[in-house]
Amino acid sequence: MKILVINCGSSSLKYQLINMENEECLALGLVERIGMEGSKLTQKAKDDKYIIEEAMRDHTDAIKLVLEALIDCDHGVIKDLTEIGAVGHRIVHGGEKYAGSVIVNDEVMKNLKECSKLAPLHNPANIIGINACKALMPSTPMVAVFDTAFHQTMPEVAYIYPLPYELYTKNGVRKYGFHGTSHKYVSDKAAEMMGKDIKDLKLITCHLGNGSSITAIKNGESIETSMGFTPLEGIAMGTRCGSIDPAIIIYIMQELNLTVYEVNDLMNKKSGVLGISGVSSDFRDIEKAAWEDGNHRAQLALDIFTYKVKKFIGSYAAVMGGVDAIIFTAGLGENSPETREDICSGLEFLGAVLDKSKNKVRGKAVEINTEDSKTKIFVIPTNEELVIARDTQALIK
Ligand code: ADP
Repeated sequence: MKILVINCGSSSLKYQLINMENEECLALGLVERIGMEGSKLTQKAKDDKYIIEEAMRDHTDAIKLVLEALIDCDHGVIKDLTEIGAVGHRIVHGGEKYAGSVIVNDEVMKNLKECSKLAPLHNPANIIGINACKALMPSTPMVAVFDTAFHQTMPEVAYIYPLPYELYTKNGVRKYGFHGTSHKYVSDKAAEMMGKDIKDLKLITCHLGNGSSITAIKNGESIETSMGFTPLEGIAMGTRCGSIDPAIIIYIMQELNLTVYEVNDLMNKKSGVLGISGVSSDFRDIEKAAWEDGNHRAQLALDIFTYKVKKFIGSYAAVMGGVDAIIFTAGLGENSPETREDICSGLEFLGAVLDKSKNKVRGKAVEINTEDSKTKIFVIPTNEELVIARDTQALIK
């Protein structure tokens, strides 16, 4: 069976067509600038690259073009759309309703709309993506796979905020956590690489990309994660501030006369390593500025980032009563040996000893600890699309 995985953003869309016989990705693509001038689809399949530059008014237009690209006689990878057995949609927020993936029906659509309140930037785009696919492939089953679902196993002590309890019961204010499919994928893979049952392991997974989150996984379940009610909580990220003293927000709103929208923009888009360095949100640019140009603020941004990751690792080891493996994934986690080295330095007290020569690796699933390290350290490239495709297949079978 072939499964189409769709990840709809507000103005972009990523997709992959996966052959589930061997879990091979047949084609992957990105549609950018949907509803804007200069919209473009780029599809890669084996050695072929196919670019379509065409006006796309909305996500329905974009998905129409994706399907056309997949069956294109020169660049396509399937003969017709009946070869697509199901579509798996990445949905950012499932609230407390979904602790796992589900086949989309009217009730699910209603619940997704309700969850939009919790993820106003993401869920509406995800809903549009499902509707567009349903319109073009009415008899193909659709499955919703949630970023939040994996973290629904967190205990109350981890997800309740010290605020008036009614904010939880009446308004849904609690920790939800994100990047669930990624944390699940790399933790399963780590257990496989260790030759152990995940039910016997204590793992800390570090998804370090533009958005970053860290999760404590005990006996195969997420018991604590760094992102919270929204993806803003936790470590400092590319442009997000992560956890700060909440009183700062009230103070700067008063001092700088900022509206809620402006302060929201400041915390989500102008902070993090971009805010500290003033250079970029991209770690490659910051590393270059710090190491080649001796830029102090760029170095400080890197140091603050790795310091915060280290603090989470320490606290999660305390929460689980130990750690068997630390796993690095996503853009930065997979590709920056220097970041991994900085984070791991000083973690020897947890039994985690990095092998600096094994650590000189990018984008490959490998063990990077020394032979005698009690705690394993891994680099594992994430594959959120594959988790979505596997869940989709399992549900429609
Ligand atoms: P997201 O999915 O959250 O947008 P990614 O997981 O793709 O993000 O990660 C993007 C981040 O990874 C960027 O900040 C980028 O600089 C960083 N990154 C990618 N490759 C490298 C590299 N070779 N060295 C350092 N950082 C890298």
